[in-house]
Amino acid sequence: MTTRSNAERLLMWLQDAYAMEQEAATMLTAMAGRIEHYPELKSRIEQHVTETKQQSERLRACIEQLGGSTPAVRTAMADLMAAFHAAGNSLMSDEVAKGLGVSYAFEHMEIASYRSLILAAREAGRVDVAEVCEAILLEEVAMADWLAEHQDAVIVRFLQREATEGVTAKH
Ligand code: MG
Ligand code: FE
Repeated sequence: MTTRSNAERLLMWLQDAYAMEQEAATMLTAMAGRIEHYPELKSRIEQHVTETKQQSERLRACIEQLGGSTPAVRTAMADLMAAFHAAGNSLMSDEVAKGLGVSYAFEHMEIASYRSLILAAREAGRVDVAEVCEAILLEEVAMADWLAEHQDAVIVRFLQREATEGVTAKH
């Protein structure tokens, strides 16, 4: 059986997380850019785009400190993210509702990733990296919580607009 040091696994997961954040930034930017009638959702997503870009930079610093490099090519993780992105595409008549669900799922995948990363960093003796991942985890939890708390308002607004003549509901 092949063994791999905790430091090697930590580096691999940091690189996966970096790819995940790159895809998140792409997905969230596209999503926010298309929303017109849900201003609260739009501005919260825009705030999270800013956080996401900062997360990428913090991850890149960790990767470089561990002697690794940021992936130059799309990884399997990035392709998985792209599939999520495609699912939230603009062709759907309930785009805002689908986007909300995709975002909620994405944040929870991020949460699971950072929880694993924190453990890997601790096992590898990298308290500094664990602290970075803990800080990022808090932002992901805050975004997931916001989406859960605002889902009802967004969906009720969508349903009311969709049933109203002459207004756009989908975005
Ligand atoms: Mg993130
Ligand atoms: Fe996130």
